[in-house]
Amino acid sequence: MNQTAQIFFPVNVPTAFDYVVPNGLALQRGDFVYAPIGKQMKMGVVWSLNDVPTQGTSSRKLKSIADRKSTRPLSPEMLDFIDWTARYNGASTGNVLRMVIRNYKALDPSAVVTLYAPSGTQPTKMTPARAAVLEKGGPWPARASEAAERAGVSAGVVKGLVKVGGLLAKSGPVDPPFDMPNPEHAGRELTPRQREAGLDLAAQVKARVFNVSLLDGVTGSGKTEVYFEAVAQSLRQGQQCLILVPEIALTQAGLRRFKERFGAEPASWHSQMGAAARRRVWREVAQGRCKLVVGARSALYLPFPELGLIVVDEEHDTSYKQEEGVIYNARDMAVVRGHLSGHSVILASATPSLETLHNARIGKFSHVVLPERPGAAVLPEIALIDLKDHVPEKGAFLSQPLLDAVGDVTGRGEQALLYLNRRGYAPLIICRTCGEKLKSPDTDSWLVQHKRTGRAMCHLTGFSMPMPRRCPNCQAEDSLTSVGPGVERIAEEAQAAFPMARIEVLSSDTAGNPAELAERMRRMEQGEIDILVGTQMVVKGHNFPRLTFVGVVDGDLGLAGGDPRAGERTYQTLVQVAGRAGRADKPGRALIQTHQPEHEALVALAAGDRDMFIGVELAMREMLGLPPFGKLAAVIFWGPDPAKVEALAKKFLNAAPRADGIEILGPSEAPIGRLRGLYRQRLFVQAESQVNLSKYMRAWRGKVRPASKYKIQIDIDPQSFM
Ligand code: ADP
Repeated sequence: MNQTAQIFFPVNVPTAFDYVVPNGLALQRGDFVYAPIGKQMKMGVVWSLNDVPTQGTSSRKLKSIADRKSTRPLSPEMLDFIDWTARYNGASTGNVLRMVIRNYKALDPSAVVTLYAPSGTQPTKMTPARAAVLEKGGPWPARASEAAERAGVSAGVVKGLVKVGGLLAKSGPVDPPFDMPNPEHAGRELTPRQREAGLDLAAQVKARVFNVSLLDGVTGSGKTEVYFEAVAQSLRQGQQCLILVPEIALTQAGLRRFKERFGAEPASWHSQMGAAARRRVWREVAQGRCKLVVGARSALYLPFPELGLIVVDEEHDTSYKQEEGVIYNARDMAVVRGHLSGHSVILASATPSLETLHNARIGKFSHVVLPERPGAAVLPEIALIDLKDHVPEKGAFLSQPLLDAVGDVTGRGEQALLYLNRRGYAPLIICRTCGEKLKSPDTDSWLVQHKRTGRAMCHLTGFSMPMPRRCPNCQAEDSLTSVGPGVERIAEEAQAAFPMARIEVLSSDTAGNPAELAERMRRMEQGEIDILVGTQMVVKGHNFPRLTFVGVVDGDLGLAGGDPRAGERTYQTLVQVAGRAGRADKPGRALIQTHQPEHEALVALAAGDRDMFIGVELAMREMLGLPPFGKLAAVIFWGPDPAKVEALAKKFLNAAPRADGIEILGPSEAPIGRLRGLYRQRLFVQAESQVNLSKYMRAWRGKVRPASKYKIQIDIDPQSFM
């Protein structure tokens, strides 16, 4: 009797397909194979192998696998990880596999092409075009087309340079391997505390068993330098290493630090990269040749065969949660990956999430603490400005104490940062005549005024239109007015107060391409900007030595709404923002404008008392049975007809399996009741900690099949409450 194989394909199907393994084809788990589906031949992955057909199937009816792709198979740990991700998050295994396999070309060896590099000798005959190639054609070696494009000439000029002796041609891979990072390249002199923390983390890696450490260090304490010690240990062991960072922290400056420490540029992985770059990283990782990857959350699903360490930097960051397609939290899944592969995981943050802190407190994670900044740098002093006592002038948003502080620091030649997490000029556009608020056409959200581009924009969907002259409702001319501040408006107000100051706005709208952003950061570092007005873009991954003052325009911004993590998030953001100040030898200061100076998050901030804040928050969560003391899931129902979406939600509610320790809240209309033309209802499921909530939700989800165009989306441990 033939062997049978269970194959998953990277498509949205929850179960594997059975095939016969033809005689003479030796297969193992994780192999990539071609197998027929309908009339087509598809690439899938061997999930398991059986010597007898699985029950209920007779091998005679099964189709045969056509062929095996000759490449390194996915590791057993990777297969388990894919299964685990699917099961935990209520997704289909096929869909998770689709996140892993992105480009089939990456399964083949790199194509070989002709590459050119300078010969070191002068061409026998020089022309301006040839000179341009030699001058601007690099980095070498390069393909003729690449060098030609950089030099602004035709590819023929590049090839011609071989004949006259300026360039040498030889064949090489299109996707070259990455340079090997060297763990002993250039360690920085660490402070005694940093050294001790680094040794702790390296020892965990050395143990080669699953363990999780929380690297809990105040802003600017040198967490990166410290986890580099663990990375170095993993590299010494010949293992691969993955550093996850929030997407917006993945900057050139950040990557440069890796290069300085390990002497080689790491592979980077993020959502903006092109197909060729993806293919190169995927292949080199899958073959085990690329040892160091710095990436955004989806890098977790690269097929590492020999992982020794995962670092999740800024582990509290909400961008680790993927909210579309397969909904998962990369921070939590990184811990799962470590567990399945038996290696170290480091979660680093100056403001760890309550879940992680709780796990450290109960001893599930080890707790490595860095309480101070190295050298002369000290943590900034934080104080509140009660906006009830210090009312800004009419139509303005900056109070007198805040303006005074900005005046002081800029007067001393130091820099100030004004922080407001609101892009554009004004978050609301309203008609003075009829009261109409400008709304997104297919979504429940207000349009935001952007003065720089002259447009009104929906920040949820990206919809935008030129700023209208007339009110779309009453047609009154020049009656639309801006309500509330965005960063552009704050910059305008600051410029009016400080006419001589060099002021720039930094938000995702104004950042420009990576080169422009890097240039802006350089100007800031060199002191060519006096006041930077920025959104959360300024918070991550930058060190500005001359920045000594941070003013938070609206400390209450995150506190509104029904998010149970609102206090925690506000606290985290404000600590991080304030932490931008005083990173070098001059002490820093932060002032936070607020209408709620009595809110516990703000009180704790001003008192510099994190333990107090965490104590209060954890007690509240425990009382309410919220994570980390209980479990939470959200279910979102989507569809084009509001009545049918409501009916679907009711039907789902009625299908709830009976179980102890489960409480269901809702359904009701979601806070964003319509998004991109689809209506939304939502319910929450709260479970006691002993309940296997994923399993419960899977069973429930299996009972209801929505009509086409309608969708039921399960979100385990939701981070977004919109
Ligand atoms: P964190 O991630 O904790 O905010 P970083 O690792 O980014 O901190 O370090 C903050 C700054 O301090 C960086 O510019 C870093 O180069 C510097 N730094 C860290 N440790 C040392 C040290 N031992 N000696 C000198 N500078 C250090």
